[in-house]
Amino acid sequence: RVKDRGRGSYGFYQPQMNANLLSRMKLEHAMRQALGEQRLDVHYQPQVNLLTGRIVGAEALIRWTDPEFGAVSPAQFVPLAEESGYIVTLGAWVMEQAVREAAQWMHEGMPIVVSVNVSALEFRQTDFVERVTRLLAVHQLPPTLLELELTETILLQDAQEMELRLGALAGLGVGLAIDDFGTGYSSLAYLKKLPIHKLKIDQSFVRGLPEDDGDRAIVSAIISMGHAMRIEVVAEGVETTTQRAVLQQMQCEHFQGFLCSPGLPAAQFRQLLGKSTHGLAQFAPATPII
Ligand code: C2E
Ligand code: MG
Ligand code: MG
Ligand code: MG
Repeated sequence: RVKDRGRGSYGFYQPQMNANLLSRMKLEHAMRQALGEQRLDVHYQPQVNLLTGRIVGAEALIRWTDPEFGAVSPAQFVPLAEESGYIVTLGAWVMEQAVREAAQWMHEGMPIVVSVNVSALEFRQTDFVERVTRLLAVHQLPPTLLELELTETILLQDAQEMELRLGALAGLGVGLAIDDFGTGYSSLAYLKKLPIHKLKIDQSFVRGLPEDDGDRAIVSAIISMGHAMRIEVVAEGVETTTQRAVLQQMQCEHFQGFLCSPGLPAAQFRQLLGKSTHGLAQFAPATPII
């Protein structure tokens, strides 16, 4: 199509490309300032046990509100930060907030697992395990109350070194989850070889429940495989009671999604957690559909 437009097409596309590059640079610049100017925040989204309805964990999700751009989605700026390498700084900051918060919940008598997303570039830092170890010690958080959400791509790169690193983390007691499970390109063989504790079923498969035969088959297969391998399974993006009921019927143990709550600022999450540990009807499990 570009060819058809002849020589003039170059002149037509060029400003567009520059505009994109310019806004990316502006966004990148604003993102780097956001941390120092306290425009970043971490929200916490509950992970709920499907049987008891209790909150068992929380995923830490970065939030950025910019005076010029408004609320910028992590789906937009995290990839940018990954490209530039700034994700290493951002990720370390998120992890510190999350670990401090989880230690606080524990001290208040509500020990739950905090889950932190880790980008491939962060995980590849040679001092990654050392930094996690130090952070846990500083905040006196038992390693079992921290979980790292890794993507399948992490497992593809530099397999031997990554295996050592995962082994070291699991040895400490840190939980290892595979995020967006089912969307990556890696082989399933790593599940047998690596100390993976949890699979998070990608929300794209949950969305089609219960109608879509393909999604139902995939979700059910992931749950069965997880169980057979003693790996916990969490369904992401659960929005309806019907989806929750289907997942419960498939014996999925945990879910995360707007049906319970979106990510909340720390103070609000803390309130919800307080109610959950007292057993709130709001989170009562779905009645089985058979
Ligand atoms: P993710 O790790 O898969 O996180 C789940 C995303 O799904 C979150 O989007 C969450 O708000 C959204 N979500 C949860 N429940 C529902 C639901 O019921 N329906 C729908 N439609 N969405 C739901 P969010 O916060 O916009 O984050 C997007 C992605 O950005 C994350 O996907 C993760 O890959 C990345 N991200 C977020 N925070 C961090 C971080 O601190 N570090 C890194 N490296 N990546 C992060
Ligand atoms: Mg995640
Ligand atoms: Mg996910
Ligand atoms: Mg995702």
